[in-house]
Amino acid sequence: TELTRAGRHGAVDLPNLDALWMPFTANRDFKAAPRMLVSAQGMHYRSHDGREILDGVAGLWCVNAGHGREEIVEAIARQAREMDYAPPFQMGHPVQFEAADLLAKIAPGDLTKIFFTNSGSESVDTALKIALAYHRARGEGTRTMFIGRERGYHGVGFGGISVGGMVANRKVFRGGMLPNVDHLPHTYSAEHQAFSRGQPEWGAHLADDLERLVQLHDASNIAAVIVEPMAGSTGVLVPPKGYLDKLRAICSKYGILLIFDEVISGYGRLGTPFAAQRFKVTPDIMTTAKAVNNAAVPLGAVFVREGIYDAVVNGAPSGAVEFFHGYTYSGHPLAMAAAVAAQNIYARDGLLTRVAREGLDAYWEEAMHGLRDAPHVKDIRNLGLVAGIELHSRPEAAGKRAFETFLKCYELGVLVRYTGDTIALSPPLIIKRGQIDQIADTLRRALSSVQ
Ligand code: PLP
Repeated sequence: TELTRAGRHGAVDLPNLDALWMPFTANRDFKAAPRMLVSAQGMHYRSHDGREILDGVAGLWCVNAGHGREEIVEAIARQAREMDYAPPFQMGHPVQFEAADLLAKIAPGDLTKIFFTNSGSESVDTALKIALAYHRARGEGTRTMFIGRERGYHGVGFGGISVGGMVANRKVFRGGMLPNVDHLPHTYSAEHQAFSRGQPEWGAHLADDLERLVQLHDASNIAAVIVEPMAGSTGVLVPPKGYLDKLRAICSKYGILLIFDEVISGYGRLGTPFAAQRFKVTPDIMTTAKAVNNAAVPLGAVFVREGIYDAVVNGAPSGAVEFFHGYTYSGHPLAMAAAVAAQNIYARDGLLTRVAREGLDAYWEEAMHGLRDAPHVKDIRNLGLVAGIELHSRPEAAGKRAFETFLKCYELGVLVRYTGDTIALSPPLIIKRGQIDQIADTLRRALSSVQ
């Protein structure tokens, strides 16, 4: 197998688990029964107990070219030897310009100015700040309000949870949230959309709610609308046909910036470089992270339209810092080296369009919807190389059945993800058809075994 060839096999001893506070994890449950990944190659992980695990989620929607790509490993090692770190403020280093240039080449429309961050959450904060800076530079400083969407996920910064709409991520933290935010309704309706293949026919009209919010708050107060073109972390909600076009039209009509959060949908996941191209709707700002460098080193990238960059940068006096924002690790040399290597792999292997070009999305759709008659299945949603399989919740125990299905799949050798009672899938874009079958078969077995 891939892992054995790479010389990575056998069980490993577990370290002491006490000190680490694990993110988004049931710490006590985990520490009582740890699930540890110790190596990875291609489509597979190796678990601490020496088993091979097929990666059904590309790590966390991010390892799009598969694990352990030699060119990326080499590029990081070379860069670490050459120059470990360089300050990003008032100084530059060549690889960050090279990486930005490669990203600009695959950008939708004229979103060809690239700002580097270290994560999706930071990309979201950065995008919100760019929106404020843009309006202020144009003399419209009253535009300070953001419109997010119910069931949206935009990371865990205070900006991101404020515009986001996942209740558990917000309820404890209200004290630090942005005060000036409203939300569009989410786009999911089981009644009208269950078992849709790809984009649902029903729901474009939900974008009209933006008109209502504009009437309520007045356009002169609204800076930007931020949505995931396809919502991932909330359980894979595919945008209804025509919905994003409507949002675009309303934003343009009122001078409101449209931000697409493409942290999941970017870099080939839907069969085009970005969802913007897939849906033929061009935002003004686009947040990305994860697969930008195949997740080998933390990195986020915000894509910005030329005119926005021009307004902010040309609007400031010469010699002055134009945008008071940035991170110690913006454009970190190792992350940049990984980005250049990953983007070169994507381009050389045609990975950003493979899913559509090779009909993998159609095969995936068939395989996933083939689970319709499996036990507990309430709905199946899919687009590109993404699927959400929603299960009927157990009374008084929401999320429990999906959690147990996730555990069972892991035991059976496939890593899936769960959110609420939805199993979410998004394998690396190098997946073979036989491996798609393996994911579907494993899910069926797991669903048959859970109560
Ligand atoms: N935005 C979206 C749409 C995401 O799916 C995620 C993470 O899954 C984020 C933002 C946050 O990214 P990060 O965890 O890198 O901060």
